[in-house]
Amino acid sequence: MARVEFRNIRKEFVDDNKGTFTAVAGSDFVINDKEFVVFVGPSGCGKTTSLRMIAGLERQTSGDIIIGDRVVNNLHPKDRDIAMVFQDYALYPHMTIRENLSFGLKNLKKPKAYIEQKVSQAASILGLESMIDRKPRELSGGQRQRVAVGRAIVRDPQVFLFDEPLSNLDAKLRVQMRVELSELHKRLEATIVYVTHDQVEAMTLGERIVVMNNGIIQQIASPTELYAKPQNMFVAGFIGSPPMNFIDVQKEGNLLHTEGGIFTIPDSMAGALSHYDNRHLILGIRPEHITGEDMPATTNLDYKYVAKIQVVEHLGSENLVYFRVGNRTVTAKVHPETTGYPGMDKTFIFNFDKVHFFDPETEQRID
Ligand code: ATP
Repeated sequence: MARVEFRNIRKEFVDDNKGTFTAVAGSDFVINDKEFVVFVGPSGCGKTTSLRMIAGLERQTSGDIIIGDRVVNNLHPKDRDIAMVFQDYALYPHMTIRENLSFGLKNLKKPKAYIEQKVSQAASILGLESMIDRKPRELSGGQRQRVAVGRAIVRDPQVFLFDEPLSNLDAKLRVQMRVELSELHKRLEATIVYVTHDQVEAMTLGERIVVMNNGIIQQIASPTELYAKPQNMFVAGFIGSPPMNFIDVQKEGNLLHTEGGIFTIPDSMAGALSHYDNRHLILGIRPEHITGEDMPATTNLDYKYVAKIQVVEHLGSENLVYFRVGNRTVTAKVHPETTGYPGMDKTFIFNFDKVHFFDPETEQRID
């Protein structure tokens, strides 16, 4: 069973000048056998440090790490039965692809026939057979990435660890490799832990996603749950592109007042918001849940809001329209045939079936 568990893991870096810095502040999670889990968050949130602690390349300050059924706190990386794929591929430039793939197994003193079988199997899975005798410099970025994955596959590890493996590839190749990695996961039936700062990569690859910020896990959930039920404003603003809009509202009775508009609280939220009378709240609405008045209504929970358009971006399949509500900029992702130009007064429709409310002090979603 290749599960990975963190029990109250802390990691502090001690720096002579800056003192103690907490990179991971008490993480708890269980990654199940054969699960594809993605760590995502902004730069410096602690995701690479978390991955390196699983690998044994970094030692936790406190807490326990379990891989399979073993506590691995004191195990050397090579004894943890994991394989890591790095961002820069870390291939040996003077060796052929075959030699690169064989290298780790030779070091482990595996029999020659075994190595040959493993290497040809990995080359076949990854479509590398035709280039097996080339050197890395004779391969494209995507092919080199596959060799790096191949070096992990030949070792038959319990757990694969990926550290931003696609970040050196161009946008088109990244999409292609994303699909390949998903297929590989199904084929290998392996446990995969994958680090990225790209929320689209996280949403498309992860069966579950661990969202981190400032060394603290913000939420662990499936992509659909993160999108539909973000636990707090950080997750709401991080997952989704463009991110969720936030609007300041003041609750009075069953009404919400904002600059330039009054909305009625949906019945489904009346109970949850009952403690917030005469208080400030943050309303969250995703760009795709705001449409132009000239487009058909989506539900009977639609509210109109008139605003002056600031900017329109034409993306082909949709337009992004920017306008202000109070002192915040709001983005609407609208149908490309929606009329609008900068300076125009436009009636927008907010789909209140899809709105979220957040406590302005705790930033937690009110449910
Ligand atoms: P990125 O996407 O930029 O790689 P990350 O989320 O992977 O970011 P980490 O590399 O885990 O972030 O780093 C978390 C924090 O710990 C950062 O603020 C980083 O500066 C700090 N840190 C990491 N390694 C060390 C180290 N060896 N010594 C001191 N501080 C470190």
